[in-house]
Amino acid sequence: MIITRNIEEFNQARGNLSNSIGFVPTMGALHEGHISLIKQAQEDNDIVIVSIFINPTQFLEGEDLETYPRREQGDIEICKRAGVDILFMPNISDMYSSDELKILAPLKAGYILEGESRAGHFDGMLQIVMKLLNLVNPTKAYFGKKDAQQLSLIKKMVKDYFIRVEIVACNIIRDNQGLALSSRNIYLNPSQKITALKLSNSLNVAVKSIWQGELEVDKIKDIMVNVLDGVTKIEYVEIVDYEFRAIDKIKINNTIILVACFVGDTRLIDNIWI
Ligand code: AMP
Repeated sequence: MIITRNIEEFNQARGNLSNSIGFVPTMGALHEGHISLIKQAQEDNDIVIVSIFINPTQFLEGEDLETYPRREQGDIEICKRAGVDILFMPNISDMYSSDELKILAPLKAGYILEGESRAGHFDGMLQIVMKLLNLVNPTKAYFGKKDAQQLSLIKKMVKDYFIRVEIVACNIIRDNQGLALSSRNIYLNPSQKITALKLSNSLNVAVKSIWQGELEVDKIKDIMVNVLDGVTKIEYVEIVDYEFRAIDKIKINNTIILVACFVGDTRLIDNIWI
């Protein structure tokens, strides 16, 4: 595995590789969720490139930029073991200059749900993804359905800006109790971990009621809010179609159920695709 720590080193390693390239952008503190993206990229491509960059512009004032888990050595080992070809670990000064041109999330889709709770987050996220896609120039790039709205906005950016890459959506990886894996799960103490299971439980209960014939979105949301009783704060429980448009009734094969909650000081998100 070639480890590159700045643009020059990266460009040298990336060179003029003409093979198919799969790209997995991450913020590190790698877990099985990230590894599943790497595995998928390996199956589909000749070369796999992973980036680890904690992107400051997608963190809002008061969020966990300073405390976000950093595990450089462990991440390098995980990537080596997973068979990654090129690891890119740039510094902030490699990725940003002063007085940068900005990318703004779309006014509608970018400012609901996550975009409403974390106004400005998606601007920074799209900015770094655009930079990384341009730099890496991969054949395919891999993103988790865990960040469903992020995935949808990246697809839109790629389409709207004619970026030559295929975006591949990967399934959510969970622990054996159902908690969606996240680098932020390490903030949870044992009792908060149990409370955090309410997120995936609420989604499972929603799915069960749908299979039992309940299709009214408002009723399903009520059921979920009941299950979530005990979390520190519910930020949203929402049910939308695959384009993130509001719906009144569940549409089989075109519905995403999303939940965002605080458990203690930790903000968790989860979703399920129907
Ligand atoms: P992050 O390091 O949190 O920015 O995540 C990097 C990529 O991994 C994103 O595309 C995430 O959606 C994806 N990801 C994070 N957690 C999971 C998970 N539990 N299952 C699948 N993909 C995930």
